[in-house]
Amino acid sequence: MIQRKGIGTAYGLVRGEAYLYLHHPVAVAHDSITSEQVPGEIRRFHQAVDAAIALLREGKGDKTSQSIIDTHVMMLEDPAFKSQVEDRITQDLVCAPWAVESVAEQMVSMLDQSGDASLKERCDDLRDVSFQVIECLEGRNRGSLDHLDHDVILVSDRLMPSELFLMDKTHVKGIALDSGGPTSHVAILTRSLRIPSVIGLGDLSSHVRPASQVVVNGFAGSVVVDPDQDTLEKFHYDFQRLWLHDRELEKLARETTVMKDGRMLHLMANIEMIEEVDHIHEVGCDGVGLFRSEYLIINQGENVSEEVQFNDYRTIIEKMAPKPVTIRTFDVGGDKVVPGLGIDEQNPILGWRAVRFCLSRRDIFLTQLRALLRASVYGKLRIMFPMISGVGELDSVLDVLEEAKRSLAAAGIPYDKDVQVGTMIEVPSAALCADLLAKRVDFFSIGTNDLIQYTLAVDRGNEKISYLYQPFHPAVLRSIRMVIAAAHAAHIPCGMCGEMAGDPRCSVLLAGLGLDEFSMDPQKVLEVRSVLRSVSWQEAKELKDRVMTLESADAVSHTMEIWMKDHQAR
Ligand code: PEP
Ligand code: MG
Repeated sequence: MIQRKGIGTAYGLVRGEAYLYLHHPVAVAHDSITSEQVPGEIRRFHQAVDAAIALLREGKGDKTSQSIIDTHVMMLEDPAFKSQVEDRITQDLVCAPWAVESVAEQMVSMLDQSGDASLKERCDDLRDVSFQVIECLEGRNRGSLDHLDHDVILVSDRLMPSELFLMDKTHVKGIALDSGGPTSHVAILTRSLRIPSVIGLGDLSSHVRPASQVVVNGFAGSVVVDPDQDTLEKFHYDFQRLWLHDRELEKLARETTVMKDGRMLHLMANIEMIEEVDHIHEVGCDGVGLFRSEYLIINQGENVSEEVQFNDYRTIIEKMAPKPVTIRTFDVGGDKVVPGLGIDEQNPILGWRAVRFCLSRRDIFLTQLRALLRASVYGKLRIMFPMISGVGELDSVLDVLEEAKRSLAAAGIPYDKDVQVGTMIEVPSAALCADLLAKRVDFFSIGTNDLIQYTLAVDRGNEKISYLYQPFHPAVLRSIRMVIAAAHAAHIPCGMCGEMAGDPRCSVLLAGLGLDEFSMDPQKVLEVRSVLRSVSWQEAKELKDRVMTLESADAVSHTMEIWMKDHQAR
């Protein structure tokens, strides 16, 4: 039995058979061969290339995945690649897997140093295809995620958002992932898919055998491989307890989020897919606080048409009407890499991302804004911009919105003239200039996932430094306080759509800070509602006053824990 602690991202408790999906071969054989073995080794290499091509062609997919498959097949068929591997086997007398590995490494480093962005973008593809050949040579097969024939727990070293989209969601019942931080986009997606998941598990995948029994506890953030009898009994006990707890919370689905002294708060939903809208209604949200529209591009490519977008936006808006729907414009880049968009950077988190990308790809941006405006007549749309860093950038974005409005007006196409426009506050410079930004928009939404990352200089996706990713750091709390105050001074509401808004441990403090709208994974709504209904605003403000004098995240965390315990005992 192996037990590992990671970060629970999507809640739930499941048990099942492991399905290993690894990007890197665990270890490549480094064996020397004799000159007599050379012809056989070259033959083996060619057979492996053919097998890898056949496996790729077997995979079915949408337009995006098809273009990746075509690129990979082309690379495998490249005569230069094949002859270099043959030369390596013949001249250096090394086994085929070793020859493939070293040729690929050499080609990757050449591409990497080329300084040409589109060539550099090929590095990952090249690594990927060479691993596939090595896997075929060594009789291992990463397998495919898009058609599974039975229920599994997916165990992987890392997953790209696009792989999560393509996987067979009906059969993946749980996910255990070596990499990833608490607010990485993979974590967020696992939540949207409502698949119990634990990430940041180190090297767990290298200790799991295909078909091992695995227990994934998304609440506790723990994974057990090959559980013993005691662990299985505890699993069944916890499963029942959680089931009862969920039934208790379900009673709150039709209640409002009113604090004990009457202050009304709005709980909204963060969604990534249209299909999630039905679940929002089940838990009784006050609207959509964040629709991460970039998943349209990730799924369908950069040329996703105005018509396709319009239909999707309209569907969500109509299904939610008369409740508001906040659609965020494309936030591509950063850790949301989209193949083919030409975003390949040394430092993508600080790079060509979100509105920075959209402002230089005006064609993509205008198409999205036109689609949004056209959909605005079907209910209550709020348009929101990500990664705004200051007034200049916000003004440029608003200019493009005006251009989109003019183009629709010129064509006689209707749109809601009063459509609300807001900005995310997720870059420290925006928090510091919140008073200036507030004059230009109808609402704020604080994106704590990025605000914490950029304020504390901690990569939100890096599990090695996740202990430094502290929502309760005084710098973060002061920023939040400042942003809310700036919004209220300008008479606009302030929401939050980062993960912090859905963390029940933060709810009372955020209410005390004056937050108006909490937008979160719909699965968290009932828990947060239950916490907020149990306190008065006055009590929340008193807690906030105490907490804001504290000097460290640990002190805040400790004080909040004691406060919660005392409060529950009262
Ligand atoms: C955030 O940064 O808090 C946010 C909600 O945006 P995303 O997680 O998509 O970057
Ligand atoms: Mg963000």
